Amino acid sequence: MTETVKTDVLIFGGGVAGLWLLNRLRNAGYQAWLFEQDRLGTGQSIASQGMIHGGIKYALGGKLTTATTTIADMPAHWKKCLAGEGDVDLRGCNLLSKDYYMWPRNSIRSRLNAFLGSKALEAKVSTVEKADYPDFFKDRISGPLYRLQDIVLDVPSLLSTLSNAQAENIFSIDWQQARLVPDTQGGIECLEFNNGQRIQAQQYVFTCGAGAEALMKDFDLPITTMQRRPLRMVMVRHTINEPLYVHCVSDRLSMTPEVTITSHKNAAGEPVWYLGGEIAEQGIHQTDEELIKAAQAKLREMFPWCDLENASWATLAIDRAEEKQAGGKRPDDISIAQNNNLMVCWPTKLTLAPNLANQVLARMQDSGLTAGSETPVQAPVFLQHPQVAATPWEQL
Ligand SMILES: Cc1cc2nc3c(=O)[nH]c(=O)nc-3n(C[C@H](O)[C@H](O)[C@H](O)COP(=O)(O)OP(=O)(O)OC[C@H]3O[C@@H](n4cnc5c(N)ncnc54)[C@H](O)[C@@H]3O)c2cc1C
Repeated sequence: MTETVKTDVLIFGGGVAGLWLLNRLRNAGYQAWLFEQDRLGTGQSIASQGMIHGGIKYALGGKLTTATTTIADMPAHWKKCLAGEGDVDLRGCNLLSKDYYMWPRNSIRSRLNAFLGSKALEAKVSTVEKADYPDFFKDRISGPLYRLQDIVLDVPSLLSTLSNAQAENIFSIDWQQARLVPDTQGGIECLEFNNGQRIQAQQYVFTCGAGAEALMKDFDLPITTMQRRPLRMVMVRHTINEPLYVHCVSDRLSMTPEVTITSHKNAAGEPVWYLGGEIAEQGIHQTDEELIKAAQAKLREMFPWCDLENASWATLAIDRAEEKQAGGKRPDDISIAQNNNLMVCWPTKLTLAPNLANQVLARMQDSGLTAGSETPVQAPVFLQHPQVAATPWEQL
């Protein structure tokens, strides 16, 4: 016998975008459930560097772009949430670093890049006095070194904090056992399970990262198109204890730092550097071996005092998933494509997840979907709850 349960919002995809949105909607009084097909954060979120950008990366050429201004206030927003005073409570999330640095290397042009970038965002960037250099750099580089307002989060603890707060509202979904029933206006009528149970929502939101493409195709919902921008990140397990959070600025006039480094720990508690930036963009054209060789040479050249003789190296190929842009360019902001009661969303950056949730909420309110319109109901009991994904460096 068919049983239909009604609710306000169904979210599909439990990366940072979906989990943040679920918290935001529940905090605002909406009845919302999230469905995840794998482990939470699988794909981009768990593989991200956890940097909450203030936009300097986008101002490296000295120009204030839309991306720079959009992102400039985000560290302050996240800091409020970490203190339990924001729109989502992040008090369980670990801060890996309260500072992020920018190191223009030795060439005049890279210093200029960094300088122009810092002028464009001068309230958000400060020059670090030699005495205040982080231990890794103390007495080892001549400078200049800049401190950005960016912070670095431990992403597994971010995902756990967001999911623990809503544990009873997050479910695993097996698409062999369920399907989305399209309505006649290009939206969705309901989520239907093979056992006959149906869930009908007023609003459906896809926050599936790269999975949105298949979901739209499988259920014939061609409301927008997606692009993938590939990266090949490098992971280095080593024995250097001073953590490192730095953009090494290129001596070419590029918007992307030469190497962007964050520090993490593997499952055994050993230090791991995670390398992104230009090296990861160029890495897509290299084999694993070539990329690792290039990374080894780069680190040797940049940090000649580091002993990486016994380090372990690995690479990770991963796509950034975004709404399609002309020429495949990086989007400047979040994307929401909407058709009837369906929104397909990409945050573009982990940093922008709060903005994405605010804009989804605003659109729902504009269309008259107010909190509390559905009386709370129990979710179907046969559904399981997913775990958070493992980091790519856990086994390194
Ligand atoms: C290597 C790398 C480093 C990055 N570093 C940073 C950084 O330091 N700072 C920053 O701001 N941004 C960073 N980003 C960007 C950031 O990670 C992404 O913008 C963000 O994580 C995207 O989150 P999401 O929730 O949209 O997607 P995802 O994290 O990809 O999550 C999608 C979720 O949906 C699930 N899913 C997929 N298909 C379905 C389906 N059909 N049904 C149900 N569930 C489904 C997946 O299993 C997954 O859990 C980085 C990205 C990469 C690739």
